[in-house]
Amino acid sequence: MKDILILTGGQEEHHYVARALRDVLEEEAGTDVRVEVREVGQGGVEGWLGWITEKMVKGGMKGEKMRKWIQRAGGGHEGRPGWAQLRRFVALTLEEVRPEVVVFFHPALGLALEERVQGRVEAGFQRVGVVLEAEDLPGWDAVTADLLWVADEGSAEELREKNTKTRDVVAGGWPVRIGFDPGEKDKAKTGGVIQKRILYLINSRRRKAQRTLEKILAIEGVEVTAVVGREEGLKRDLQKRFSEVRERLEIHGWVKNLAGMIRGHDLVVTKPGTISVREVLATGRPVVLVEGGKGADRRKGMCRLVTRIGCGALGDSPGEIASRIEDAMEGGGVGLREWNRRARKEALRSIGATERLASRILQMAKSANHVERVPELRLLSRGNAGRKGLLMVDLHAHTIFSDGRLTVSELVDFYGRRGFDALAVTDHLVDHRRLLGRLANMTGLVLTSEDLPDYFRVLQEERNRAWTKYRMILFPGLEFNHDGLTAKGSAHLLGVDLVEPIDPSLSLKEICHKIRGQGGLTIAAHPHHMSSAWGKDTLYLWERQDEFRPLIDAWEIGNRDDLFNPVGLKKLPFIAGSDFHKPKHLTSWKTLLWCEKDPDAIKECVRKNKDVSITLYRDHRFGGEVDERDEKKGYSREIAKLNQ
Ligand code: ZN
Ligand code: ZN
Repeated sequence: MKDILILTGGQEEHHYVARALRDVLEEEAGTDVRVEVREVGQGGVEGWLGWITEKMVKGGMKGEKMRKWIQRAGGGHEGRPGWAQLRRFVALTLEEVRPEVVVFFHPALGLALEERVQGRVEAGFQRVGVVLEAEDLPGWDAVTADLLWVADEGSAEELREKNTKTRDVVAGGWPVRIGFDPGEKDKAKTGGVIQKRILYLINSRRRKAQRTLEKILAIEGVEVTAVVGREEGLKRDLQKRFSEVRERLEIHGWVKNLAGMIRGHDLVVTKPGTISVREVLATGRPVVLVEGGKGADRRKGMCRLVTRIGCGALGDSPGEIASRIEDAMEGGGVGLREWNRRARKEALRSIGATERLASRILQMAKSANHVERVPELRLLSRGNAGRKGLLMVDLHAHTIFSDGRLTVSELVDFYGRRGFDALAVTDHLVDHRRLLGRLANMTGLVLTSEDLPDYFRVLQEERNRAWTKYRMILFPGLEFNHDGLTAKGSAHLLGVDLVEPIDPSLSLKEICHKIRGQGGLTIAAHPHHMSSAWGKDTLYLWERQDEFRPLIDAWEIGNRDDLFNPVGLKKLPFIAGSDFHKPKHLTSWKTLLWCEKDPDAIKECVRKNKDVSITLYRDHRFGGEVDERDEKKGYSREIAKLNQ
């Protein structure tokens, strides 16, 4: 069984295309393939994607600049950390679906997928980007994919030139599904006055709809069909209001064969989103699009498309809409014929595009050789309860809940398979009132108060799994980031083995008391000058050692590759941790404890700080550079040996 995942969101249009593509894939593939469509809609992410699109188009955001901007400033839409949620959504969806191929329609999704590939955490999947907003191809030049699908050769050439990361750029037409022939000729009635048939798909408020109809009907030589959908009340009102022009106005409720109806008209007036604009264009009919109103920003892409192709016009007010139609009908309908010609040309290009795209995707899915998940390992159990042993622990690690790459369960598997005895997940929690200075660099990749219940629930579930599957103790924790404008005003404090959230806006001393009140450990993270390039110094606690010494159970003497020898010189209680964010951080300082394998014993051992030592951990099998894919192969080999 192969899985194809279609990620949609950010534009109304994406949903239409996603559904059409799913239908074709399912028809063609039969039962060997499962197709999942997931909408990136939760937590305001969809709105954020729309906003990103706008910014990209307006600001001409491109390439690396765009990538940085999305990943940094992209967190700032209405205070919603959009990028943080998007990457988490993508990670969790991939973990759940485990697809062979992922199809996406937005460059920001491409960036989120790329991060997953770089993290090398999933069994390999292939990426297919379908470019639906053609104008300037904003953002797509920074996206890496195995295949990028664009409508026309012009766009393809442009993209091949700008995007050197993607080998395969295909001009395959618009993946829109149509069941009829767009080549059919314009059936204008000849005679003294040309009669043009206009189809008005109503999705506006009552008054606007009525005004629009009045204005259109005032144009000489037009007949109008109005479709109100399921709004029976509106249908009755309009019938009453326009009873004296009944011979020029037909009013319909819900229409089953909308495509057929579109084809029977010369022009469609609609708001993007009422029906897919692409679907209208695929019939070869021109459109006048109603701009403005609710959600206008998200629909701008479709409006741009119509202007670019030149197969119609845009209008906001009823008067504007009518005058666009009037202009097109001038001189015997010259303008309308030109719109029609262009719409038909565009439509011809899209015939069979969905089928072509689907067959490429199926090919990719079928040729993907399924990477077996690492077989379950029963590890040598060390330090049984009631008996002391040497335990390898890591009390500082991050997940996708903040700026880490792995999901919590990936992290548990990652450490569990290597035989670690205890691991603390300590995602960043920030007091938003202190959102100052360099915190802006954190790109909003921090836990928010809304995330906390979810975070603690997931950790509880994984705590059980980590124990049953690996005999590894998982401590729920938090890293409290109190960042100021200066190094001396900044502190990162770890709370390890927490039962419930703690308000990050409390003072550090209060937080220490709360952590201890829950039976947790207080640990000063990277408390001295750091030599690593990414981290800024956090010296607040160090500067106030005398005050904090009684409140802190241990000070990090090692953090990732860094050693803080003043911690040793001052004879402070110490531990060392990875500050794990991605697989390669496994190669780093770790703590060894001589105690029983039991949460309380471990904590007590750290507090007493007698049987504690540190070690610079190297993953002996792979010489330090950890590559999950190699790792999987490596493990399979190892298991094979064990089984012999
Ligand atoms: Zn930190
Ligand atoms: Zn950290």
